Amino acid sequence: MKDCLFCRMVAGEIVPDRVYEDDEILAFRDINPQAPLHVLVIPKRHIDTTNDLVDDDAGRVGRLILIARKIAVTEGVDEVGYRLVINCNAGAGQSVFHLHVHLLAGRRLSWPPG
Ligand code: AMP
Ligand code: ZN
Repeated sequence: MKDCLFCRMVAGEIVPDRVYEDDEILAFRDINPQAPLHVLVIPKRHIDTTNDLVDDDAGRVGRLILIARKIAVTEGVDEVGYRLVINCNAGAGQSVFHLHVHLLAGRRLSWPPG
């Protein structure tokens, strides 16, 4: 998807502040962090939103969560706690339409979210 910001990161056209990468997944620090730790974990393959997931994506989505968990450990927030968020569509605040998991930690995270 040539007009997709996150696909351009995957392609190396934009260089993010990367924290993890493998064949399927890229993770990088959010440019406008909402917490002291704010990392985005994305599949390299373009998927617009969770509405577009199909059964075949089960492994891919599972790996996104597992990588987010590994980053939480690496960043030392696994014990104190962290939050994983996926916004779906504009009504939930999605602004980049390439599926991503937010990993947020480092401050008290209130509930319910805003
Ligand atoms: P969402 O609002 O759930 O779609 O999340 C999109 C996130 O992408 C926001 O938290 C933005 O701050 C973040 N973002 C936008 N542009 C960049 C960028 N160039 N590098 C890193 N994060 C970005
Ligand atoms: Zn994309």
